[in-house]
Amino acid sequence: MAREAIYQQSKPDMGSEMDQGPGEPPENNVSGLPGGDAPRPRPDADGKLRPRRMDEMVGQRDVIERLKIAIDAATARGEPLGHILFDGPPGLGKTTFATVIPAEMNTSVQMANGAGLRAPKDLLPYLTNVSEGSVLFIDEIHRVPKAVEEYLYTAMEDYRIDVVLGDGVNARTLNLELRPFTLIGATTRAGMLSAPLRDRFQIREHLGWYTRDELSEIVRRNAVKLSIQVDDGTADLIADRSRSTPRLANNRLLWVRDYTQSKADGNFDRDITRSALDMIGIDELGLDKQDRNYLDTLMRVFLGGPAGLDAIAHTMNVSGDTLEDEVEPFLLRSELLVRTRRGRLATPKAYEHMKRPMPE
Ligand code: ADP
Repeated sequence: MAREAIYQQSKPDMGSEMDQGPGEPPENNVSGLPGGDAPRPRPDADGKLRPRRMDEMVGQRDVIERLKIAIDAATARGEPLGHILFDGPPGLGKTTFATVIPAEMNTSVQMANGAGLRAPKDLLPYLTNVSEGSVLFIDEIHRVPKAVEEYLYTAMEDYRIDVVLGDGVNARTLNLELRPFTLIGATTRAGMLSAPLRDRFQIREHLGWYTRDELSEIVRRNAVKLSIQVDDGTADLIADRSRSTPRLANNRLLWVRDYTQSKADGNFDRDITRSALDMIGIDELGLDKQDRNYLDTLMRVFLGGPAGLDAIAHTMNVSGDTLEDEVEPFLLRSELLVRTRRGRLATPKAYEHMKRPMPE
């Protein structure tokens, strides 16, 4: 297949301000998109709570152990770390890993989003801006289009890209050497990655759900960062209602803090925490309104299923991707939902939780 021309007789825009050298503190060391009209990466809503070093991370011990070995070995050899792919549901720490790894290696990181890399010209500034041994993080890498993906192949394998200048009989290929770098990709859909791209990642890590104890620990540590007092029972309650996901534990904690400040003079306890979470529709299993709306739609409109994802999504008026990425993984894991060949099916446990009678 002929490659799409990157630049037509124009020089790449090499924004130099993005190329930060190693040795700066991690919070100043993270750069965004080097120009272009692509959307900015997701703002870090809880940047204050995000761990800055690997030792500050809770859980994922086996992943951390393997990464530490790889980092130590690469540092000892003076080589860049192998490319890493993280996959798993949203909020489990993929972006956090992508920021702590460069911090451990004392190098810089550029952050991109696969949805923003619509054409090869969107990717090129990132590649030309990589400094020796630095990290390029591409979130939602499954959304990178094929034409852009092909440029990643040689960039990852040989630190080189072939830029096509001009077109027709005047077309020339320019061989551009890149500085050795590490690509960190994150995806909620590992299955959507093409085999050639997936195989170019030397390290592949799946991030799993967090235990109640791990989430409680995250809540306690973050309460200290926010200068609030949370006893163990309250931390456990927030953990129980956080769907095994650190991002949700943080969101719940921030909400309970606001609620407590406004309604209870800042005094945290289990009862206040329960009222705060009830008020925003978070139930004992941690399901929020959207999760329950999903189960309700499946039971009420589709009589419990089997129903296709698209049909459920259309009825709820939300995108199928949102349901597949953000709602279904936890429902499946909690055995409230099963995926069959014929579609999604609510389980008896789901009927019990929703306090609805099972259909005959
Ligand atoms: P993802 O990129 O997988 O969607 P993030 O890395 O953005 O998830 O994680 C969301 C938030 O959860 C982070 O800002 C951080 O505060 C918290 N978090 C994630 N993983 C951990 C962890 N292992 N220990 C402590 N906090 C974590």
